[in-house]
Amino acid sequence: MSEFKLDFQDTATAFADKSNSQLKEKYRLFKLLNSPFLNAIGTRSAKFALALGLPVEGLIKRTIFEQFCGGETIEECEEAIIELGNANIGTILDYSVEGQMRMEDFDHTKDEIIRTIKRAKDDPNIPFAVFKVTGIAPLGTLERLSAKRKLDAKSQAKCERIHNRVSEICEYAYSVGQPVLIDAEESWIQDAIDRLATQMMERYNLEKPIVFNTVQLYRTGRLSYLKEARRRATNDGYIFAVKLVRGAYMEKERARAKEMDYLSPIQPNKESTDRDYDAAVDYCLNHIDDDAFVAGTHNEESTHHLAQKMHERGLPNNHPNIFFSQLYGMSDNLSYILAKHGYNVSKYVPYGPVKDTIPYLIRRAHENSAAAGQISRELELIGKELKRRKSG
Ligand SMILES: Cc1cc2nc3c(=O)[nH]c(=O)nc-3n(C[C@H](O)[C@H](O)[C@H](O)COP(=O)(O)OP(=O)(O)OC[C@H]3O[C@@H](n4cnc5c(N)ncnc54)[C@H](O)[C@@H]3O)c2cc1C
Repeated sequence: MSEFKLDFQDTATAFADKSNSQLKEKYRLFKLLNSPFLNAIGTRSAKFALALGLPVEGLIKRTIFEQFCGGETIEECEEAIIELGNANIGTILDYSVEGQMRMEDFDHTKDEIIRTIKRAKDDPNIPFAVFKVTGIAPLGTLERLSAKRKLDAKSQAKCERIHNRVSEICEYAYSVGQPVLIDAEESWIQDAIDRLATQMMERYNLEKPIVFNTVQLYRTGRLSYLKEARRRATNDGYIFAVKLVRGAYMEKERARAKEMDYLSPIQPNKESTDRDYDAAVDYCLNHIDDDAFVAGTHNEESTHHLAQKMHERGLPNNHPNIFFSQLYGMSDNLSYILAKHGYNVSKYVPYGPVKDTIPYLIRRAHENSAAAGQISRELELIGKELKRRKSG
């Protein structure tokens, strides 16, 4: 077997479409996010200032929003779609409005998600649509459903409306043949999301993978869940489609478990999460003729692991059932280098009104400031490229 290596340090490819000033701006922003103190103060005071109606929106828009979001509307994302498309990277339009509570907001978000599917249809630059169930459903109802608590008539009616919204989105996706990802969220509402996603897969994944559920491998027991979900799909005669992620709510999960005195659902350490993530990738690869999966990760080792396993199995880089995905503004070295080698790769491009995307931006800021995390990798790569350009 010939030695296999993808060079994710090739910064010339990773930043080919960034000007020097764009790179310097990116460097400044990541440097700022790198300070945990500033990060905590910044994100908290941004929320506070927005709540008070202080004029910080412009500042947020020009800095962190521009780095991690495509714009406030689908139209404003067109530039990002083209820029990524020119590098053979797909866009996943992610309407990132979170924390809504009113029925009319949920209906509005559902309509907007359908608009993203309409925009994606027939455009090879937009391989997937995506949504979060909490964007179209009240948290309390999802929590009651997940806890299998008895529902009163009012909750029952809300439940039906949630089901209708999810069905409407997936039905439309199916009618135009556009695959759609359903994001995974907090463990105490995930059971309801899993059940909805499974029902949608049963209904719409008959000819090709349309609905993809998400499995978070930072949770103990999710590798077994993945296997069980796949077995069920095979027995019931539909295509199993899944996005594999590590999981974005670790601190929140641990804090809640501690506060409410139950065993944390999170793996004991990072190594266990990494081990289960790669095992999940291997499991999906074992069934790749029948299933489809998206590896949603910024982890270089896991990305390389998947590419290497594909190589060892003699699978083509552009295998129709295997997708790599990253988030806009992060890990361009993975996305651009995978694309250069012909892998199917796409990026979530979040969008929405600045103030409504704050929870998303806060998660990215926290993730980026985590010790030994993303930030040092990003800074190192940008620094390396700036140096290379200077000496070149
Ligand atoms: C395209 C895409 C889609 C995504 N969709 C979702 C989604 O639907 N739902 C969701 O929850 N997240 C989602 N995420 C975010 C993802 O779950 C991770 O938070 C993020 O990508 C960082 O993990 P990583 O695999 O990139 O790599 P790394 O940076 O190597 O891993 C960091 C992750 O490892 C885990 N971890 C870190 N420390 C520990 C520890 N001490 N013990 C146990 N585990 C630990 C945590 O999950 C942490 O986020 C998505 C990410 C991408 C790129």
